[in-house]
Amino acid sequence: MPHERLEDASARLDAACQHVDLSPDARRILCAPRLALEVSVPVRMDNGDLRVFEGFRVRYDDSRGPAKGGIRYHPDVDMEEVIRLAFWMTFKCALNDLPFGGAKGGVAVDASELSRCELERLSRGYISAIADVIGPRVDIPAPDVYTDATVMGWMADEFSRIKRENTPESFTGKPLALGGSKGRDTATASGARHIINAVIERDGRDPNETSVAIQGFGSAGGGLARMLAADGYKVVAVSDSKGALHHPEGLDVEQIWQKKRVERSVDAVGEAGDGEEMGNDDLLALDVDVLVPAALEDAIDEDNADTVQADMIFEVANGPITSAADDILAGNDIPIYPGILVNAGGVTVSYFEWRQNRTGERWDEDTVAERLERRILRTTHEVFDVMDDRDLPPRVAAYALALERLDEAIMAK
Ligand code: GLU
Repeated sequence: MPHERLEDASARLDAACQHVDLSPDARRILCAPRLALEVSVPVRMDNGDLRVFEGFRVRYDDSRGPAKGGIRYHPDVDMEEVIRLAFWMTFKCALNDLPFGGAKGGVAVDASELSRCELERLSRGYISAIADVIGPRVDIPAPDVYTDATVMGWMADEFSRIKRENTPESFTGKPLALGGSKGRDTATASGARHIINAVIERDGRDPNETSVAIQGFGSAGGGLARMLAADGYKVVAVSDSKGALHHPEGLDVEQIWQKKRVERSVDAVGEAGDGEEMGNDDLLALDVDVLVPAALEDAIDEDNADTVQADMIFEVANGPITSAADDILAGNDIPIYPGILVNAGGVTVSYFEWRQNRTGERWDEDTVAERLERRILRTTHEVFDVMDDRDLPPRVAAYALALERLDEAIMAK
């Protein structure tokens, strides 16, 4: 890969390559993105000033189908990050046998500083700048960190205007009124819940005696906290960017959800009451059964990996553990279930949305939930089989399986 900070992603590729008889062609193709576009997006602000934002769209690989991946709004977004995220999408779609390649996009912006109208102008301007490289049979965007259904609605509308045709299947994660799918907003959390339950059952553990700490209380981390609490797990700690809350007997997750997600209180995790406040790093070091990093990349690195005491880790964020931290955690016998498996519920329901848009069907909530569970459990058991048959840790097993599927498509071409 051409960029230095992409080493983490390619370290995973190298580790998986040792367990797969990969063709030299596939190795060469998967070394670099197919397309990496950088654009400038001028936006007229409400006060009359003009600001120019940096935007990116990367198509990492499309051997298995049109590329798929979200669009992120975050001040730290840059080309390296977007390439890394597009690389992970490629492996996520292959592992879950979705007919998609991998892509990602982003804009370097602190969305909380923009008014709603400014955000709409930015979203439309970004789509106008990347319109030539996306489309329902080429590259299909979706939400990611700090973008949501409203943003997808503006983007899908702008794309339809540019193309002068109605193409709802060009975007996923849209509002229901514009062809969004039922269950898309809870899909990432639901997928993670099915995988955690499957692992807990396989390990012969009882959810009622399993403690969980979740770093990140967005729609994925917060939604998962609610689902696991409802399944009987002891959710002992949660956090957001402002800080963490801990209660050894289990937190009142519903109360925290109410404050943070419904009332949108700024430091609600700290305000919601029934636990003791602690720092984000303290949460990662708690002696819990299950640790769930559900925020941004690189939360666990070589500096704090040795402090992790959890029995197992489930990555709900994309890439929250660096490869140096991976080695330390492996040395401490802590299995890591990777993001390309654990957070695949989101892109799986995106696939359902794209299918519904193409056929004109509308699936009800139960149909989406059943099909999601079936697909997620099928992939999870395939990963278990590779772990058992080849004596591999979960991350390497998942990458090996994904790589085999990519290799097959590349060779078939
Ligand atoms: N942004 C999500 C992810 O990282 C969803 C992508 C999609 O639905 O295309 O998996």
